[in-house]
Amino acid sequence: MFDTLQDRLQSAFKNLRGKGRLSEADIDAVAREIRVALLDADVAVSVVREFIARVKERALGAEVSQSLNPAQQVIKIVNDELIEILGGETRRIRYAKTGPTVIMLAGLQGAGKTTLAGKLGLWLKEQGKSPMLVAADLQRPNAVTQLQVVGEQAGVKVFAPEPGNGVGDPVAVARAGLAEAQRTLHDVVVVDTAGRLGIDAELMQQAADIRAAVDPDEVLFVIDAMIGQDAVVTAEAFLEGVDFTGVVLTKLDGDARGGAALSVRSITGRPIMFASTGEKLTDFDAFHPDRMAGRILD
Ligand code: GDP
Repeated sequence: MFDTLQDRLQSAFKNLRGKGRLSEADIDAVAREIRVALLDADVAVSVVREFIARVKERALGAEVSQSLNPAQQVIKIVNDELIEILGGETRRIRYAKTGPTVIMLAGLQGAGKTTLAGKLGLWLKEQGKSPMLVAADLQRPNAVTQLQVVGEQAGVKVFAPEPGNGVGDPVAVARAGLAEAQRTLHDVVVVDTAGRLGIDAELMQQAADIRAAVDPDEVLFVIDAMIGQDAVVTAEAFLEGVDFTGVVLTKLDGDARGGAALSVRSITGRPIMFASTGEKLTDFDAFHPDRMAGRILD
């Protein structure tokens, strides 16, 4: 991901090399190139507009620096602003003070929710937690089995519907899962929920109902970083539907242009908290805006 964007930004910066001081025309020219590079990477138009305005304003106002030449100064400004649109600081999970922390997952089918449940389970275990996964995606025929498989791989307990604990009713399953976690002293509950291929009123209502039933500490919106411009509409719909508290980007290992990654924070105002970079359970980590900006400008 970001290979093209990386090349395009490098070539924009190249034109500034060797210049003693940047004129307004130089800054306009580099801003124009950065703008086109971001738009071609599928970053949302509104995000690009604001980004460019800030870069230009700062570049025009930049002091003559002893330590940085003009090209380095512009690179630094772009780096700072990339960190800013990616969310600034790393946002960590807010654990509940008492009782199990409830983390609910929401997103379109295929975004990588079920895989993420396993990854998050393993990651939580490594953080010294005792997580439990709850299979409340009853829409997709084999979602429950899939969660059981990833749970087993991660060595994390999975609560799945059985006769008597709410077959067919994802809200009842989520509630029963939470009760089971309390009884068995698991301190984090990850609730997997159903998604469809497109935004769907019925499924969104179901997710909202699960949210209301389990009162999660975190609602993570899982989004495939390869979906390009559709990211904006999808993210806005989920924000309205389930009012998520954080974002997980998946498939950052793909070769798509990555605009979703750069837009979703600004569009929704919610922090990107984790990133998935492959199909293996270990291809996963907390999201660090500064490292991601560094990768893009590397
Ligand atoms: P769900 O429908 O949202 O539960 O999505 P799944 O967890 O079933 O994932 C859909 C597909 O994406 C599966 O084939 C996963 O192996 C794959 N997948 C999930 N996360 C990643 C990732 O970070 N990178 C890659 N390359 N594939 C992923």
